[in-house]
Amino acid sequence: MSAGKEKQNVNTIKSIEEILKEESVKEYKKVKDIILVSDKERNNLVKDLKNYPHAFVLACAMDRQINADRAWSIPYEIKQTLGNFSINTLYNVSLDEYKKIFNEKKLHRFNDNMATVFYNAVHKIVEEYDSDASNIWKGNPSSATVVLRFLNFDGIGIKIATMATNILSRDFKIKMSDYYSIDISPDVHIKRLFKRMGLINKKDINNIDKIIYKARSINPDFPGIIDLTCWKLGRSVCRPTSPKCDKCILKIYCPKIIDSDDI
Ligand code: SF4
Repeated sequence: MSAGKEKQNVNTIKSIEEILKEESVKEYKKVKDIILVSDKERNNLVKDLKNYPHAFVLACAMDRQINADRAWSIPYEIKQTLGNFSINTLYNVSLDEYKKIFNEKKLHRFNDNMATVFYNAVHKIVEEYDSDASNIWKGNPSSATVVLRFLNFDGIGIKIATMATNILSRDFKIKMSDYYSIDISPDVHIKRLFKRMGLINKKDINNIDKIIYKARSINPDFPGIIDLTCWKLGRSVCRPTSPKCDKCILKIYCPKIIDSDDI
């Protein structure tokens, strides 16, 4: 590669980073409907942080190895079975009863395991958070504290812990003393976008650490802020085949590194 071409590429990458950050900040500031599940009634339960903050936490704990819409519907399905969703009602249900409900209603791919995760999460909320899940994020905690509190739930890994903290900040506007520890959650859209935008090399498309650190370098104060913009582009214009670059907000800046085998 000639020195001139290399310089041009470096400039292109700088521009795409800046524009991606700008668009993400705009997206973050938008006041929007909170849609965590496509069905309205199911969504109303998991977004009701005032009356059912535990519904949000329990849905996060269920979000593993199944379609997200199905996972985030589980609190509603339990509510329908039990007749209400107060934390006291949930606390009085035995593990065997939860296993029976999960298996009978086929709520998850791993019904016994996820019934146990659900049961343990309810007990943790009652016993460690004074029966109020909003104590996980109340009082202006640091982002690291919130991520760590989610991580301490049985079955919640770093991807879901950062996703949950990101949603609390971005969608519910929960105040935290900083946002440093809210990383991007690399899914298939983020991986494809990062590769096409030249932010990572094609060979690194499954290197989660490199994607996370790249996002940190773009916006160290709040790396996860670019998550939603990339995800939305990946779901709309930047599809695996036939991306609609002419309709993309990044079209002037993006190097458009598109391959026939893009994921
Ligand atoms: S749609 Fe085209 S311009 Fe937009 S991010 Fe994808 S490759 Fe880049």
